[in-house]
This record gives sequence, C-alpha cells and structure tokens, in this order.
Amino acid sequence: MLYSDLAETFDRLESTGSRLEMTAILAEFFKRADKKELRRIVYLSQGKLHPDFVPGVLGMADRLVVKAIAKASGHPEDVAEKMVVETGDPGQVAEALISRKKQMALFSEDLTVDRVVRQLTEIENADGKDSQDRKQKTLASLLHDSGPLEARYLCRTVTGRMRVGAADMTILDALAEAFATKEDRPAIERAFNVTCDIGLVAETIAEGGMDAVRGISVSVGSPVKVMLAERLPSIGEIMERMGGRCAMEFKYDGIRVQAHIGRESVKLYSRRLEDLTSNFPDIAESLRERCKYGEAIIEGECVAVDPETGNMLPFQNVTHRRKKHGMDEAVRDVPVRIFMFDLLFADGTDRTHDPYESRRGSLESGFEIGGQVQMTTMRVVESREEGEEFFANALAARCEGIMAKSLAEDSVYRAGSRGFLWIKYKKDYQQALTDSFDLTVVGAFYGMGKRAGRYGALLMAAYDQETGRFETVCKLGTGFDDAFLDGMPSLLDGSLSETRPPSVDAEMVPDVWFEPAVVLEVVAAEITLSPIHTAAMDVLKPGSGLGIRFPRFTGRVRDDKSPEQCTTVSEIVEMYGMQAHDSDGLSE
Ligand code: ATP
Repeated sequence: MLYSDLAETFDRLESTGSRLEMTAILAEFFKRADKKELRRIVYLSQGKLHPDFVPGVLGMADRLVVKAIAKASGHPEDVAEKMVVETGDPGQVAEALISRKKQMALFSEDLTVDRVVRQLTEIENADGKDSQDRKQKTLASLLHDSGPLEARYLCRTVTGRMRVGAADMTILDALAEAFATKEDRPAIERAFNVTCDIGLVAETIAEGGMDAVRGISVSVGSPVKVMLAERLPSIGEIMERMGGRCAMEFKYDGIRVQAHIGRESVKLYSRRLEDLTSNFPDIAESLRERCKYGEAIIEGECVAVDPETGNMLPFQNVTHRRKKHGMDEAVRDVPVRIFMFDLLFADGTDRTHDPYESRRGSLESGFEIGGQVQMTTMRVVESREEGEEFFANALAARCEGIMAKSLAEDSVYRAGSRGFLWIKYKKDYQQALTDSFDLTVVGAFYGMGKRAGRYGALLMAAYDQETGRFETVCKLGTGFDDAFLDGMPSLLDGSLSETRPPSVDAEMVPDVWFEPAVVLEVVAAEITLSPIHTAAMDVLKPGSGLGIRFPRFTGRVRDDKSPEQCTTVSEIVEMYGMQAHDSDGLSE
C-alpha cells in the first residue's frame, strides 16, 4: 500500500469533528487495506510504530526536522525554521515547502507503507555517535519522495505530534464496523483491554474474524489494562451497594505494579504501561523467588517502608524509586514492599474470568508470603459498623483508605474498566467533597506580583473518553510552593503548543497552551455548573459545563498516569451527582 493512501485518509479524518464520520472513514479504509499491513496501519494512525508497552518513541527534535525539510525541499534552513516557530507545526511547514519544491526530484521512489515503517523504525532506533545526523538524513530521504500531504504526516509522526483523533475507541468501533457487528464490539474491546495492543486486535479480526478475537487472552509479557474502582461517599452506601457483604482491603498509597512473572525473568509494568522493572529490581527478584507458579501475572501496590520498624511510609518516599538515574542508591536507601491484591493469570490459565475469592485464594496460596512480598490486609465485612472499624484500622496503619470488593459470583477482573465491583473510600472524602481529581494541564497564565515572569496559574482539563477530547474544569493557582513554581517550565515546556491543541476544548484562553501531557492531583471544595468551563458542556444544563471551585494542587504530580488516564468528564458528572445527593441530606 502507498503511504499517500494513508495520508489522504488522515487528512479526511482531520477534517471531520464527528466521531461517527471518523469511524466510517476508518472502517472503509480498513476494509480495503491489505490484511497483512493492517497492524502497522493502525499503529501509524496513532502516530506510533508499535504498542505503548514496547520501549521506544518517535520524538525527533524540531531543529533536526527543519534541516531535513530544508534539504528535501531545497529551501534555506532559516526559512523553514522561522515557519516552524510561527506555526508550531513542522507538518504544516513540510507540506507548504514540499509543495513549493525548488527542483523536481529526478529519481524518486514510491513511498510505500512498508518503506515508511522501515525508515521510521531506523529513526526511532538510531542511537550513539552520529545518530542525530542519521535521523535527519533518513527523514530527508523520506521527504524527498513525498508529496505535500505525505510530508505533513511524516513530520507530525516523527515529532510525536500525530493527533488525527484516531483514539482507541474510534479504532475499535471501526474494526467492528469493518469486520464484525455492533454486538461484537464488547468482545473486541475486551481483546484490546487484555493485550493493550490495538494493532494485534486489528490483525486478528481481519485475518481470523471474531472467533480468533474471542481466543485472545491474557498472556505473560503483554500488559493488561488495569481494573479501576468507583467511589461512594460513605461506608453505609458502599455496604448497601454491595448487598450487605463484601471484602474490604486496605488501600495502600504507593505505586501500582502489574508483575509479569515468567519462568526466567520478571517484568513490572506501571498502570500507564511503562516498564518499571529497573525501578524495583528487588521486588522483581523476590516475586520470582517466592512464586510457586511457573508463570503468573499479579498486581500489587509498591510501598516504601521504614527499614527499622517495617511501618509504611508516605507516598513521597516511594517516588524516589521512579527516578531515571542513581537507581542503585535508591534501591539501597528506600526499602519497599509489594502488597499483592490480584491474580490475573497462573500457569496457562486466564484467571480474569474467575470471581474475587477464587483469585485471591490462588494468589495467597501461589506465593510464599514474607519479606518484601506481602498480601494486602483483607477482611470480609457484613455490616456498616464492621466496615467503619476496618476503615479506622486502615488509617491507623497509615493507609489512605479502603477498597471494597464485591464477593458476587460475577466479581471478575474487569480489565480496563471502572465499575462498582471495586469501590474506594478514602480519608479525604471525610474532609473535602469527594475524591481528589487528577487533571491534565492544557495551558498556563503568567503570574503577577511575586509570581511575575513565571507561570502563576494553570488551565486544567478532564478527559472525555467518548470523544477523546480534553475539556477544562478549572484555573488552578493554589497549592504551588516555590520549588514547584520554579520547576514548572521544565515540567511543562516540552509540551508547549503555539495554538490550542486540537484535542482540547476550552473557552478560557491562557497565555500559553500545552499539549496534554502532565497530570496533577487537585482537591477542591465543590463542583458547580459553569458557563466558562467546557467539561460536560450542555449535559446537565444548556450553555453550562462543570467547573470545580477553590481547586488546590496537592503537591503530587501523577506521572504514573497518562493524560488519557486522568479523571474523566463522566466521573465528574457522577461526583456532581453524589454531591447534590449529599446536600439533599440523603447521605448519612
Ligand atoms: P487513586 O488516585 O485513588 O489512587 P486511581 O485512579 O489511581 O485512584 P482507582 O481504581 O480509582 O485508581 O483506585 C485504586 C487504586 O488504588 C489502584 O490503582 C491502586 O494503585 C491502589 N490500591 C491500593 N491498595 C489497593 C488494593 N488493596 N486493591 C486495589 N487497588 C489498590
């Protein structure tokens, strides 16, 4: 297949804001694509060459791309550079300059998808001496054989700015439309949730149909999308919702880890699919030593502990294990334990379909519990009083609250979904309105007075899973200490955007825009209807969205969450409902 075919499809996707239309465009394209190429096409439509859990990202610096554009188009470098600074989009610049090529290429070779993938892989893997030079030359060779539209998307892809809006959910819809039926959509989504590999799902459905898709199951080495919890405002409501009986576990305040324990080696993944093995080599080793299964996938929370007393330490301590350098010292100085809470796979069997008690039983019996490998504290509770007592015990043990887990027959591990099989209840709920929010930074305002010359406040957004867009909920200017204010440019400026990023919906216009990249934890006093914020616009009242009042940064940068994993708009709508319920005096 020619890359121009793909570029034309991207262009059509970009020119429509309607998800239905995008689905139709993609479905039609998937149907006519060569089945063997579909996997790569799907990755390319998300600006990638492979699934996220495979290491390596395309992120070529603008100055190298400028050089390649200049070389391939025959224009001076300073012209290309000036245009990139003005537009903030090397793709647009490449398109304009390639269409005004100084000289027609004498020998040009067709740009096939195969060649594009091969050469982009060379760029992604280029390493060591001369790597910058090689990257630039490889891109120039691709641009040499490109038309304007192909050049636009090549340059956006290499710089990591490919946002045509082919969100996971849209691609899954399109796969159902092209190769199956609407009824098959949940099974297709499950296949994605248990493999985190949308290209694999595409290839499987195109080649083997729905039977093959249903055969996709959890396997060691392929991370599984994590199951998430709902929230309720009181233990009484949790007990009611759970039918009067449930398991309660301490909710540890650490870093969630999904461990893939192979016969020889162990890999640890974060909830955003980063490889954390080198951050917790001691945990990886202990898990292998203490695991009685040949192969297993487990989940647990890694928490820092006081080496003298074994007491759990606050979250900030375990973050020392997340740095890139000086890991040997961090492993020595910051002892951690893993508190295991789930079993997803054991010796050839996908356990995600089993109910909670069966999974928990096999988790406990499958390990020699001790040392760094512990189970979460759990108790089956049958009344509100028992639940409240357990919650008090959790706080006394320095945990942030409890996780209530359903004991029903259908209490399966629901990969990738937030539901009422797990309900969280945290100590914050007793002080503030509800839960904290994890919001994505999409803009900044310059400060005044003491903050003059630096960013003084940030424009924060929630994620709408349906549309794949970021919608604003507040301007955040409280809770920043001097160190954070000083560090803001280095935290944020890598994602500066000249204009409002296409995935952001905002009425408020900040001094600078950012591509969604950084997630911060925020607490607030209240969720209110807002004419200026765009989250859930028109959902509850025409002309109003939802905003949060008196937001305050907690000091916690959620670098374990990608922007798409931040608090969703539908969660905020739900919290708004919980809050209205509270003020009606209906809660206890
Ligand atoms: P939060 O910000 O409250 O940690 P979250 O969005 O990261 O929320 P939720 O599913 O809402 O995730 O809350 C559950 C989180 O709590 C898990 O992601 C996990 O990191 C952590 N956790 C701590 N103890 C447990 C436990 N016993 N069982 C399940 N998850 C636990």
